[in-house]
Amino acid sequence: MIIVLESDVPVGSSVALLDAARAAGRAARSMPDGHGGLVVTVDGNLPDDVLAVPGIRTVERSHKPYPLASAEHRAQTVVTVGDVEIGGGRPVVMAGPCSIEGRDSLLRAAHAVRAAGADILRGGAFKPRTSPYSFQGLGEEGLRYLAEAREQTGMPVITEVMEPEQVDLVCEYADILQIGTRNMSNFPLLRRVGEARKPVLLKRGMSARVDEWLMSAEYVMAGGNHQVILCERGIRGFDPATRFTLDLTVVPLLRQLTHLPIIIDPSHGTGIRSLVGPMALAGVVAGADGIFIEAEPNPERATSDAAQTIDPETLRDIVARTRMLSQAMSAPLVPVVAAVPAPEWELSLAAAD
Ligand code: PEP
Ligand code: MN
Repeated sequence: MIIVLESDVPVGSSVALLDAARAAGRAARSMPDGHGGLVVTVDGNLPDDVLAVPGIRTVERSHKPYPLASAEHRAQTVVTVGDVEIGGGRPVVMAGPCSIEGRDSLLRAAHAVRAAGADILRGGAFKPRTSPYSFQGLGEEGLRYLAEAREQTGMPVITEVMEPEQVDLVCEYADILQIGTRNMSNFPLLRRVGEARKPVLLKRGMSARVDEWLMSAEYVMAGGNHQVILCERGIRGFDPATRFTLDLTVVPLLRQLTHLPIIIDPSHGTGIRSLVGPMALAGVVAGADGIFIEAEPNPERATSDAAQTIDPETLRDIVARTRMLSQAMSAPLVPVVAAVPAPEWELSLAAAD
C-alpha cells in the first residue's frame, strides 16, 4: 500500500500510520515525495479506519512491487555528491582507470581525466575478476590512493564494494559505492549498503530484467538509503562481436518507471575502445543523466579492461560533445520549414485519382 501525504500534513499523521502498521505486524517506511510531501509505503494493506488521519492525499492499494523506486508519486531524484548533481539536468561524467594499479598511475590518470572534463573519478580497488588468477585489485591500499586523488583534484570518487564486510571500509574512502553487475542480486550486500549513508551506483546484472534491477534498487532503499543511481552497463547478447549489448532502450523506459538517475557505461557495454564515444553520446541523446567511462593515459597498458579503455584526448572529445548535445536537446525547437514540395510519385498518384 502507498499512502501519499500532503506537504502541510501534521507530523502526527505519518507517525500514526507507521505505528498502526507496526501494530498490525506490517513493515512500513516513509520518504519525501520530492514535492514537499511524504510517501508512506506499507507491506500489505492497512484497515480503512487507520486511514482516517488528517493530511492523506491518495491511497494506492495496487502499485508496482518496488514502491520506493517507482516513479509513481515521486519527483525525479537528484543525488548530490560534493558539488556534483546527478540527475539535475546536466550529464555527469565519471571516468578513470578500470583498476587502481599504483599511486603514481592513479594520480596521473586522475589529473588527466579531470583536465578532460570529468566530474567524478572512478577506479576499482576490489576487482571482481572472472579468473581467480587475475589481478584482484590493491584493496585498502588502492582506496588510500583514491582518497589522495580526490584531495589533489577535488573530484568525488566512486569505487566498487563486493562484500557486506567491506562496506564500512569502502565508506571511509569513497563518495559513491559501486555495486557491480555480478553483485546486483547479492541481497546481503544490497541490504548492507542500504544501511550506509553514501550514494550507491547499482549496475544492472548482465542477465537481469528491468523489474529485477528495480527490485534490487528497492532492497537498498528499503534499508533507508534512498540515494540510488542506476547504471546500464550492457547485457549478455548472442553476438560475440561486442563484449556485451548496451541496452539504451532502458533509458527512456526507466524514465517512465523510476525517479532514480540513470547512468550509461559504454566501456563495459561494448568492450571496444572505438565504440565508447559513439555509444556514450547515444546514451546522452537517449536521456541518460551521465556516462561512466574507463579512461587513463596509457590504455594499452591497463591490467584490466585495456581493450575498452580510452585515452584522455578521446575523453575530452566525448565530454565536449556530451555538453553540446545536452544543450542542443534542451534548446527550444526550431520550427520545421513547412513548404516542402510533395514528392513526384505522390503528385502522379493524385493525378490518377
Ligand atoms: C568495472 O566498473 O570495472 C566493472 C567491473 O564493472 P561491471 O560490474 O559492470 O563489470
Ligand atoms: Mn572494468
